[in-house]
Amino acid sequence: MDAQEAALDQAFDCPGNYRAANPSALRCAKCNRPLDVKDARLTPTGYVCPYYIKARVATFYTAGPQHYVVAVIIAVVLGVGVGLALQLVGQVSFFGLILTLFVGPAAGGLVAEAIRRANGKQRGQYIWLAAAIGLAIGATPFTILPALLALLVGSPGFIFALIPVAGLALAAGALVSRLRF
Ligand SMILES: [Zn+2]
Repeated sequence: MDAQEAALDQAFDCPGNYRAANPSALRCAKCNRPLDVKDARLTPTGYVCPYYIKARVATFYTAGPQHYVVAVIIAVVLGVGVGLALQLVGQVSFFGLILTLFVGPAAGGLVAEAIRRANGKQRGQYIWLAAAIGLAIGATPFTILPALLALLVGSPGFIFALIPVAGLALAAGALVSRLRF
């Protein structure tokens, strides 16, 4: 929690004018209104009324459309690099599979980090989804497409063509978990 957030927390009047249906000794830690036990939500700073949670979610996710655009652009551009890297690594036959287990998540983590830095403190509830779609778009020509082609022509190398696809799945998983939590 930074200074700005701490200041917000101290002088916070929960919107919505919550009223407890029954007399209660419990009070919202933020707005100090009497709080029904059934409505109380536990936070690290004490029990709060439901309106506080709603307001908090609204202020927590501050990303605008431009931040989503930035996330998608970064994910597509870096996704091309991730796809190329996975394609290269996948060609190292058996060891390619082992390398992919490391390269995939690492690549996804790098893309997530780049998006976080570009967007600064702005968080978006669905940035992870936009980024995952961007990553898939950028990497598809080097991962999913070759595997599909190998499948269509009945190539015996089809199984190996799946290695970069698995790498992309690992990268997307790492990307989503970094941006989501
Ligand atoms: Zn409250």
